[in-house]
Amino acid sequence: MEKIFDETGFSIFGTNVFNDAVMQERLPKPIYKKLKKTITEGLPLDPEVADVVACVMKNWAIEKGATHYTHWFQPMTGITAEKHDSFLSLTGDGRAIAEFSGKKLIKGEPDASSFPSGGLRATFEARGYTAWDCTSPAFVKDGTLYIPTAFCSYTGVALDLKTPLLKSMEALSQQALRILRLFGDTTTKKVSTTIGAEQEYFLVDKEYYMKRLDLIHTGRTLFGAKPPKGQELEDHYFGNLKTRVAEFMHELDVELWKLGVSACTKHNEVAPAQHELAPVFSTANIATDHNQLTMEIMKKIADKHGLACLLHEKPFAGVNGSGKHNNWSMTTDDGRNLLDPGKTPADNAQFLVFLMAVIKAVDEYSDLLRFSIASAGNDHRLGANEAPPAIISIFLGEELTDIIEQIETGVAKNNGTSRKLEIGVSTLPVIRKDTTDRNRTSPFAFTGNKFEFRSVGSSQSIATPNFVINTIVAEALSQIADRLEKAEDFQAEVNAVVKEIISKHKRIIFNGNNYSEEWVAEAERRGLPNLKTTVDAIPALISEKSIKTFEKHGVLTSSELHSRYEIQLENYVKTIRIEAITMVEMANRQIIPASISYMKRLAETVVSLNSAGVDSSAVKADLERVTALVSSARSKTDLLKSKVDELDSHDGDTLEHAKYCKDVIIPLMSELREDGDKLETIVDSTLWPIPTYTDLLFGLL
Ligand code: ADP
Ligand code: MG
Repeated sequence: MEKIFDETGFSIFGTNVFNDAVMQERLPKPIYKKLKKTITEGLPLDPEVADVVACVMKNWAIEKGATHYTHWFQPMTGITAEKHDSFLSLTGDGRAIAEFSGKKLIKGEPDASSFPSGGLRATFEARGYTAWDCTSPAFVKDGTLYIPTAFCSYTGVALDLKTPLLKSMEALSQQALRILRLFGDTTTKKVSTTIGAEQEYFLVDKEYYMKRLDLIHTGRTLFGAKPPKGQELEDHYFGNLKTRVAEFMHELDVELWKLGVSACTKHNEVAPAQHELAPVFSTANIATDHNQLTMEIMKKIADKHGLACLLHEKPFAGVNGSGKHNNWSMTTDDGRNLLDPGKTPADNAQFLVFLMAVIKAVDEYSDLLRFSIASAGNDHRLGANEAPPAIISIFLGEELTDIIEQIETGVAKNNGTSRKLEIGVSTLPVIRKDTTDRNRTSPFAFTGNKFEFRSVGSSQSIATPNFVINTIVAEALSQIADRLEKAEDFQAEVNAVVKEIISKHKRIIFNGNNYSEEWVAEAERRGLPNLKTTVDAIPALISEKSIKTFEKHGVLTSSELHSRYEIQLENYVKTIRIEAITMVEMANRQIIPASISYMKRLAETVVSLNSAGVDSSAVKADLERVTALVSSARSKTDLLKSKVDELDSHDGDTLEHAKYCKDVIIPLMSELREDGDKLETIVDSTLWPIPTYTDLLFGLL
């Protein structure tokens, strides 16, 4: 077993990362200082520095067993991409040496033609380039030096998820600094957004997985009758770990630690075979890279253990799905969390301004937040009885809500007595960080010193939700700063702004049960949008307001937003189409033939019983039941197939196609599933060709 600790501490952590300690040790001092300035202050990197860094990085990587390097990037497929080049270089006299220049470190030119661009770049203009993101450290994995990069077209148009994320972090930093300056902070140089992404996943036996076309092609079960036991006993949550799962988790931790991913918490989740991993939070771009690595390594390690890791948002019907709880906050470069309530009146006032910015942003742009988590997979989860609904609201907790109500009225009601409550003058009642009234049903919950965005899908990149949060909060901060900067009486203006935001945006605050029917009705009364599906949610991205905001903060241009809109819709259509044809194939080649074999067996039994002079009516009734279901499944399968053909031959735009998938294909899929699942419960199990929910969910020892 690998050594995890030594006398220096947690020694395995970051052993394969070109981190600050390695740079400090190996780079000449002036070079280290310049690089550090680029990393912390975003200053441009001088080419000479890049050359030295590249050489030192290469030598370090070679010591770690690397022969290749790759510019690692995050195209709009939602997963990462890499092309490996070796360090090999041939000298004039034919000798092979290892070489890596600053130019190669800073810029790469992958053939970009096959990545989604949403019409931004015709395939003949294949060139795109990757640019080193030195704020996320390089690392060695599988014999290759990985260099995190941003990916754009030759004309500088963003083709990835990292570019808008980095730009949104910059935008938020700029606006947050304006507020800090107003509160007399002259030293903070940068405000970072911090993220801790808790990742949920399922583990199933690889052998069963390989027998399920639906899991292989779509990541979720398209058929599958409910098992006799589901999650109703609630005996899985925080339950003890099965040996195979524990071994998987241990190896996963070790591999992640080596890559500098701070895997910290692991436990069984609510559904059988469901688990969670939570890291210690880091800055948004590193957290995004690390979450991508986590998902990738989970799958690889699972495979080594004879398991399959399912990251789909809803792998099993009737069983909890998986999400990613995206914990979000803002921190100064000297480590102060701006969502930490303060101890002094001045700190309190500053905390309230940042809190108000989030509340204002979430209310004004709840449609964009809903967009940021929209996917075909997440549609099965949002609004179901286990995950936050599609209605975006904020949970503040009773204490903080109470304080906010007091601020609105201007009267503090401490200990039964009333006194005037004035922000920046009187101290707010202490806001306990570990308030007991946690709300697990809220999509966007304040948890003491951060917000937890709980609607994020388990398989999606966290880049999109975070660049949306960063941008809309930057916009709210900028509007607040505009007012406060002009104010003659700062204190009074803070009071006025906070009060105004409370009265205008308190409709977004909801501390009750978000899963209830009453909330749906109440939210409608409050005028909060309820964008139930991806198709309803995506258009928010290209609304006039959205374009104006993203452009104002330099995060994405109008054409970049339109391209993302196209890609998201296309992705939705492709996903549903693949699901539909996978269903057709499973019905045609597995479910219907297995049922027909059973029919044959029953028919033969009827004949035998009759010739033996024995009553065959019970068997005949079974035969009739199966026959009726098979004929129903047959016609639904054929109809589904013809609807997919119609989709393929239809000329409409992507939005029309997406609507067709939602309104025609998905309902048909549910109908076909019903027949298939009924057949599963009556056909002889020895004839059934597909592993059942019991196999998948309870098959691990
Ligand atoms: P839970 O939400 O399950 O009760 P915690 O609140 O302790 O658990 O933490 C959940 C996640 O939130 C962890 O990944 C943690 O690192 C992260 N987190 C804690 N503080 C912050 C912060 N200031 N910014 C972003 N994420 C944070
Ligand atoms: Mg949490």
